[in-house]
Amino acid sequence: MAVTKPKKAVRKSTRVNYGSHIVRLKVGTGDRLLNIHEDLLCANSRFFRQLLQKHRKEIVGECSICHEDLDSEVNNITFCRAKCGQNIHVTCIDRWQASRPNDTTCPMCRVPWKKQENVYPVSTTAGLDPRAVQLYIRWLYSEGCLKINDDLEDDLCFYDDLFNVYLLKALMVAYKLEDDGFKKAVLTAIFDESTEDLGEASVKYVFNDINNYMLQDLVLCLFMTQITTGWFTDESSGFPDAFVKE
Ligand SMILES: [Zn+2]
Ligand SMILES: [Zn+2]
Repeated sequence: MAVTKPKKAVRKSTRVNYGSHIVRLKVGTGDRLLNIHEDLLCANSRFFRQLLQKHRKEIVGECSICHEDLDSEVNNITFCRAKCGQNIHVTCIDRWQASRPNDTTCPMCRVPWKKQENVYPVSTTAGLDPRAVQLYIRWLYSEGCLKINDDLEDDLCFYDDLFNVYLLKALMVAYKLEDDGFKKAVLTAIFDESTEDLGEASVKYVFNDINNYMLQDLVLCLFMTQITTGWFTDESSGFPDAFVKE
């Protein structure tokens, strides 16, 4: 996979306001917590949209309390998390509740209002690599520019198969968090940025460490383009059996 094209950003089309809530993602096996704005995350990741904002309506029209426009550039907007998903100004719901201390229901659907802390923890699916999740967060905040250079350190360089592993881990994040834009950006990087052929480390990562058939298929396809006649008898000894059989 030689470098053939200059770096290009895969841009997202719609602009997202960050909103007023921060989620603290618990990733990996340690105590690592990574902060990200909930609205930005949910606008991109189908996994988190289902988890955190499944019933939220589209932010259009007016606030049900004050009847002013719902403009997230001007006011913070929250929504009914308990049931109806209706969007409403944060200041309006705060005033509404302050004026009715005995009534804690949603002004629209009358189900008890579910308050969410401004900063709250969320456990993600296990097995995601913290550094790859950080790359994803940087990608979200840079409006679709994949800043892989920021992660190039002593233990990671363009000319090593570990760089391919790093990109495969990022691809795993894209699959698990269901973000097609990020998937496209990482795939572009795999084809355009990595200068090293896939090697043992990449193969072992997708065949031994994770169980994702799509990644295994991708690695098999890439590998078939780079091996030469006689490779299986000469060089396949260090590779996982499942990979060699395929
Ligand atoms: Zn309002
Ligand atoms: Zn409601």
